[in-house]
Amino acid sequence: MTEATTGTTETEPTVHDLVVVGAGPAALTAAIYTTREDIGTVLYEKGVIGGLAAVTDMIDNYPGFPQGVEGLKLAGDLQQQAERFGAVIEFGEITSITEEGPYKRLETTDGPVLARAVLIATGSDYKKIGVPGEQEYYARGVHYCATCDGAFYRSKRLVVVGGGNSAVQEAIFLTRFTSHIDLLVRSTLKASEVLQRDLDRCVAEGKITVHLATTTEAISGEVVDGIDRVTKVTAVKDGQPVEFATDGVFVFVGLSPNNQVVAGTDIELDEIGFIKTDQHLQTTLPGVFAAGDIRSGATMQIATATGEGATAALMIREYLEGPPVTPTEAAAMDKTDAVAPAETSVEPAAPAAV
Ligand SMILES: Cc1cc2nc3c(=O)[nH]c(=O)nc-3n(C[C@H](O)[C@H](O)[C@H](O)COP(=O)(O)OP(=O)(O)OC[C@H]3O[C@@H](n4cnc5c(N)ncnc54)[C@H](O)[C@@H]3O)c2cc1C
Repeated sequence: MTEATTGTTETEPTVHDLVVVGAGPAALTAAIYTTREDIGTVLYEKGVIGGLAAVTDMIDNYPGFPQGVEGLKLAGDLQQQAERFGAVIEFGEITSITEEGPYKRLETTDGPVLARAVLIATGSDYKKIGVPGEQEYYARGVHYCATCDGAFYRSKRLVVVGGGNSAVQEAIFLTRFTSHIDLLVRSTLKASEVLQRDLDRCVAEGKITVHLATTTEAISGEVVDGIDRVTKVTAVKDGQPVEFATDGVFVFVGLSPNNQVVAGTDIELDEIGFIKTDQHLQTTLPGVFAAGDIRSGATMQIATATGEGATAALMIREYLEGPPVTPTEAAAMDKTDAVAPAETSVEPAAPAAV
């Protein structure tokens, strides 16, 4: 299979075997697999190649790196590996996907392209609380991933912001490292009863103090041993300013999926806005697949994003190797016919539990 091209005029956009939206770990891994099999693959990236991994200082839990790996290095290595086999990475945003005969038409910042298959690997962003200091200390005192960064806070004090399931769950998880956690909850706890029982245990053991009706106002720091570090969180409780001494802040106020590209399509989202897929990682729009953090049920880790990228690539290969479809056949084809991917020899992974 090769990348097909039909020219780049307004009426005849270039046709690619596969267009990937995003160039994070899921996308780059998929591209390694597809390009090695001569599936012409173009990735569009609107931000940084490597996605969130590229902006993570040190990654300690990606397999194969006993001493950890700098996020930027991992991103660069994934990029090189994909490009070695012929992946093309374009800078630009994909703003829409529509159906055009047997192809998907994608609007990019450089004009339209056509694709025989599409992989959406646009990831998600952790919601911010938008207070002074949050951006300034991002990834060096302010964090959004306990599994990723919790181990940097052994025997330290932390502030955790949020009162939902993920905030409580992550605060409990963080107690394995920390000396003490102040949990700042803007209104009341929204976590499940089970989690609240676990939380009560941590409170009774003196590991967590819960501060209800407490709105975080600012994160500030000072230079300690030549390094500018987070040292304090300022909040308001019952109209009165309060301060919390801390070594770091973890914010868990939700995730916002980068799903803008699917607006106006038949692609189904879950109640939060993550893309639903079947066990082949195919969305409800035939020929469009999703992998990594954007996928409903994803576990939001680099190792799982790369795994899903690989799985999606294998499923896309099977899809592309299905019976050739002419534009006329495609027009006559109903959705049920189009969605069924060819039988695969690969056992697809069960969707991950959140
Ligand atoms: C601070 C921080 C630390 C982390 N640390 C770890 C860690 O230590 N270990 C770990 O396993 N995980 C960690 N994670 C999580 C990990 O980074 C993600 O799970 C992983 O990067 C997800 O990969 P992805 O390819 O699905 O998406 P992403 O990495 O989010 O990549 C998606 C890419 O798509 C691009 N994009 C989005 N929309 C469009 C569009 N319309 N057109 C073009 N491009 C688009 C984005 O710009 C982005 O580059 C961390 C996350 C954060 C924020």
